Amino acid sequence: VLFNKYQELKGNIRVMCRVRPVIDSSEGEEAKLLFPDLKTSAQIDVTGPEEKSSLGVVSRKTIPFEFDRVFTPSVQNEDVFGEISQLVQSALDGYNVCIFCYGQTGSGKTYTMSSADGMIPRATHMIYDTITQLKEKSWSYTMEGSFVEVYNEELNDLLTSSRESDPKRKLEIRHDDARKSTTVVNCKTVRLDSPGMVETMLAQAQNNRSVAATKANERSSRSHSVFILRLTGENAATGERCEGTLNLVDLAGSERLKHSQAEGERMRETQNINKSLACLGDVIEALGRGSGHVPYRNSKLTHLLQYSLGGNSKTLMFVMVSPLEAHLKETITSLRFATKVH
Ligand code: ADP
Ligand code: MG
Repeated sequence: VLFNKYQELKGNIRVMCRVRPVIDSSEGEEAKLLFPDLKTSAQIDVTGPEEKSSLGVVSRKTIPFEFDRVFTPSVQNEDVFGEISQLVQSALDGYNVCIFCYGQTGSGKTYTMSSADGMIPRATHMIYDTITQLKEKSWSYTMEGSFVEVYNEELNDLLTSSRESDPKRKLEIRHDDARKSTTVVNCKTVRLDSPGMVETMLAQAQNNRSVAATKANERSSRSHSVFILRLTGENAATGERCEGTLNLVDLAGSERLKHSQAEGERMRETQNINKSLACLGDVIEALGRGSGHVPYRNSKLTHLLQYSLGGNSKTLMFVMVSPLEAHLKETITSLRFATKVH
């Protein structure tokens, strides 16, 4: 119901906010919570920073933000998935779907997207069940997955370990403009014949990441990971064919590191993260406005996802925020970004 309503109102772009819970007691004891009174499900009220009036009176404004949905800290991954399952299913109807997690490092992006009970395993399991049911209606589907990382404006295959990979066979984006589809050349694609294979894939990606980088967590917060699920269906009775793609994207941490604090390689990394997140915002904003020119080519990520953003495709952005007062500034920055694309 929610999605249909917004379909009419705003086309194919939706934004939902998720506030993570306090993770451990040390965080809770010291830190004041930003959202003591989260009631409504589409609005989030942020108590802004202290401001001093000309008379010297200190006060804090309430800044309201509105989204398609706001998930409070007690909401579980299962419930979050319930809100997006229809959108996920539409990939079986031939839509290209993109779901992003945006937010500062530590705000819950990976927990939401790729943890053992996150959106990636839930989506694949549900699609697998639906495919099984559709067999009775003469539909046979294949489900293929790839998992890539965009790091420093370069694509890496997360399903190939650095030992196996051949530096001469770089990943390359190839668009088929007639079919409006994209292939990543030299990228490993795995046929997912059983739902359990997804867990294997996720573990493999995690493992390759930690082999490739000494500080795996740091690396993952500075790169975008894109899980690409391609669904191809054919109906034996009617001859109909159907092709859809589901892209699940765990974005790099959105915290703005000051250029002055970084040098050399780290500075280039920082610039690339800032640039690609800004570019993603620009693309979604241009699509929302119905603008003729959409600047897909300004970053590797939007170039890769060109045919899954805009046109007939569906986009959902989760903006993840921390509940802690200490993160207020980044929280407001994230919510503003999300408002811009909404
Ligand atoms: P990010 O990927 O944005 O850097 P993570 O997903 O790694 O952040 O989350 C940071 C920490 O908070 C992790 O320990 C994670 O398990 C925990 N966490 C995040 N969201 C939730 C949640 N909704 N419920 C319980 N724990 C969470
Ligand atoms: Mg993460």
